[in-house]
Amino acid sequence: MQTIKVMLCPNNRQRTRLFQCAGLARFAFNWALDYEQQNHKEGKPFLSDYDLIKIFVAMKSESEYAWLNNYSCSIPKQAIKDAVKAYRNFFEGRANFPRFKTKRKSKPSFYVDLCRIKFTGTHVQLEKLATSRKKNKSKFNFVRLAERDRIPTDAKYHNPRVTFDGLNWWISVGIECERSTEMPTNQGIGIDIGIKDLAVCSDGKTYPNINKTAKVKKLKKKKRRLQRKISKKYLKNKKGECYRKTKNIIKCERELLKITHRLTNIRHSYLHSVTSEIVNRKPKFIVMEDLNVTGMMKNRHLAEAVQEQCFYEFYRQMEYKCQWNNIEFITADRFYPSSKLCSCCGYLKKDLKLSERVYACPECQNRIDRDYQASVNLMRFKESAA
Ligand SMILES: [Zn+2]
Repeated sequence: MQTIKVMLCPNNRQRTRLFQCAGLARFAFNWALDYEQQNHKEGKPFLSDYDLIKIFVAMKSESEYAWLNNYSCSIPKQAIKDAVKAYRNFFEGRANFPRFKTKRKSKPSFYVDLCRIKFTGTHVQLEKLATSRKKNKSKFNFVRLAERDRIPTDAKYHNPRVTFDGLNWWISVGIECERSTEMPTNQGIGIDIGIKDLAVCSDGKTYPNINKTAKVKKLKKKKRRLQRKISKKYLKNKKGECYRKTKNIIKCERELLKITHRLTNIRHSYLHSVTSEIVNRKPKFIVMEDLNVTGMMKNRHLAEAVQEQCFYEFYRQMEYKCQWNNIEFITADRFYPSSKLCSCCGYLKKDLKLSERVYACPECQNRIDRDYQASVNLMRFKESAA
């Protein structure tokens, strides 16, 4: 199973309509939650999503709720299912009481029915975006996709979902695909991840930290400036105790969101290129250190750099790409001394400082780059564990 996410390019009217669909999903979610809550207060038994959907559909015939008929019925259906699931989790003690969705705080999103979604090379057909059934209006149901031929047109789709990230609308869809049966044969690789370089591999390849490049630094500077500008604007427009959002602030915040997204995109696409390149070398196994990100974040001087490196994302990508390519993915536990061990003689240097970039072994006088040695030790972890 593979999930593909593609940006949508709706026209203005479609855009408005997508927000309305998300609004309906929110309405149905809140309605179901409220209904369940009232129901419980009256001492009646728990209602399943099936019951609730039946009540919801009956509601459509009332004149007050006639507007519901203008939308695809799969949108409230899934939203109610979500609400019931969240409510059940609360009821059985697994989670807090689910929050009601608000227009301002929750992320606009809705589900599309599996059997009614259709993809062409360039467009996706969503159900009932057009309120009229006339043939010349049905074009309105086709929303253009930002990438051509990215989503196969004849596959089995799972869980299609339309979301808004603050700037753009996206569609994500799961697709079943055949797994490769080819078994990798090359030597295993140990990967040491860090801040100086993103990844050092035991086969000698090093991937630098992308956050140190001029392009990213420039963007980060721009972001900081804009953040300062916005906070100044907020202070200037403050009335008594409350902050006000002016048109200008909204404009600036949009700009800020654009930069933030751009930075994330640069970082993630770099991670994808690195992980794919490692996997394409076809190692038999890959060993990585167990991540102790919270521990690293405690160091105030490193926190920002750690966050920028997106270690979790790296780990996640590595794990699923290994699975796709039949590569054994191994994590060395946190207490495995990958950087303190001498790769030559096995001496354990207990008081190794973070500033020592070159490991000098007092036993065998071997001098070696610290990160490279860590990756070699990680590669050997498989043998030591076996
Ligand atoms: Zn040594």
